Amino acid sequence: AALLAGTPAPVPALHLFSDPAETKALRWDLLAWYDRCKRDLPWRTLVREAVEAVTLWVSEIMLQQTQVATVIDYYNRWMQKWPTLQALAQASLEEVNELWAGLGYYSRGKRLQEAARKVVLELAGRMPRTAEDLQKLLPGVGRYTAGAIASISYGQATGVVDGNVIRVLCRLRCIGADSSSPAVIDHLWDMANALVDRSRPGDFNQALMELGATVCVPKAPLCGECPVKQHCRAQRRKLFGKPAPVVDVEDCGAGDCRLCPPATEPWDSSLGVTNFPRKAAKKQPRVAQTATCVLERRGCHGALEYLLVQRPSSGLLAGLWEFPSVPLAQDLQEEKQRELLADHLQAWLGQPVPAERLRLIGEVVHIFSHIHQTYVVYSLPLDGDMTLDPASSPLRWVTEEEFHTSAVSTAMKKVLE
Ligand code: SF4
Repeated sequence: AALLAGTPAPVPALHLFSDPAETKALRWDLLAWYDRCKRDLPWRTLVREAVEAVTLWVSEIMLQQTQVATVIDYYNRWMQKWPTLQALAQASLEEVNELWAGLGYYSRGKRLQEAARKVVLELAGRMPRTAEDLQKLLPGVGRYTAGAIASISYGQATGVVDGNVIRVLCRLRCIGADSSSPAVIDHLWDMANALVDRSRPGDFNQALMELGATVCVPKAPLCGECPVKQHCRAQRRKLFGKPAPVVDVEDCGAGDCRLCPPATEPWDSSLGVTNFPRKAAKKQPRVAQTATCVLERRGCHGALEYLLVQRPSSGLLAGLWEFPSVPLAQDLQEEKQRELLADHLQAWLGQPVPAERLRLIGEVVHIFSHIHQTYVVYSLPLDGDMTLDPASSPLRWVTEEEFHTSAVSTAMKKVLE
C-alpha cells in the first residue's frame, strides 16, 4: 500500500547500521585506528594549531579531483601567499591562475577567490559555521566541502560523502547499485550523518576518508589490516560465499532493491569486496581538435620569446594564457588547417601570414575531464619586421622562464615541450 501511495519502500536491514551497539563499536574502532595511523598532512597541522577554517577550505577545494601528493606543494605556496581570507580577497584572478597553473579545473581557484571576497565584503569577514550556511552562502562550496569544514573546523556533527567514503560505506553495507544514482547518494548521506561520532565529528570524517584512501582502496583493499573489518558485510560475503538459506541480515529480501547490484550483474566471486561500489559506465569524452601556433621572436636581449594570448574570462580554462589557437572541425586537411590558423594569426599580428610559412611540428594529446583534446602544433619564427596589433585581446611576449611562471595550462606546457 505504501508503494502504491508513492512512498519509497523501507531500506532493507542489509544496507543499514540499525544496531546502536555496532555503530558505537565502529566509531570506536575507526577513531582508535585514526589516532594511531593518520597521515601527517600540512593542513592538518594548521588546523590543529587552530589557524582558520580557511586553511581547510583551501585544501578541500584543491583536493577535489586532485591527488594529495600533487596538492601539497600548491597548498603550501597558496597559504604562504594568502594566509588569510583578507589577503585572498585582494588577490587578482591573474595571480590566482598563476599559482593554480598545472593543478587543473581552474574554476576552483577562481571561485575560492570569489568566495573569500564575499566573506570579507558581505559577511564582515566571518566564515559561515554550519554546513547549511557554508553551502548556501559561499560560491564553489558544495555539500561535501561544507560538511568537511563544518565538522572539522567547527565541530558540527555532520557527515561527509566523497569518493573514499562512497567506497567504504558501499562495502560495509553491500551497496552495489550505481553509486552515482540519487537513491544511493541519498542513502550514503543519511548513513554518514547517522554514523558520524558526536564528540569527534571532524576526526571521524577524516578517519573514514583516510580509511578509503589508504586501506579500503579501489583495486586491492587491505582487508586483513582493516580496523572495521568485523563490521564489513562485503568482507563477510566474500568469506562465507552466498548467504545461508536461513533468512538473516545478509538477505536483502527484495528482488527489486534499489541499493543492491542489478539482477543482471549479481555478485562476482572473482571480485570479492570490490564488487562494491559499482558505477554506471562513464560517458565517453568529447573528441576535439585545435590548431595552435608557437610564435617565436628574438627579444631585445637576444633570448627567444613566445607570444601568449589570454582566454576569455569564463568557460573552459577561463583567463588562462595560451599560444594563439583555433578550434578545428574533425578531419580537416592539413592545407585547410594552415589557412584557418593563418587567418586567425593575422588578427593578432595585424598583417597577413602566409600559410606556407607555418611549420607543422606534431600533435599533443591532452585529456580534460570531459574532452579528449588534440592540439595540432605549428610554429612560426617571426622576422623583426612583423608588428602586433595592440588593439586585439590581451597578449604578451614571454621568455621560456616567464612562460613557466605564467598562468598557463598543463596542455600548453606540453605544447611548448
Ligand atoms: Fe574495505 Fe575490506 Fe575494510 Fe571492508 S574489510 S571496509 S572491504 S578494507
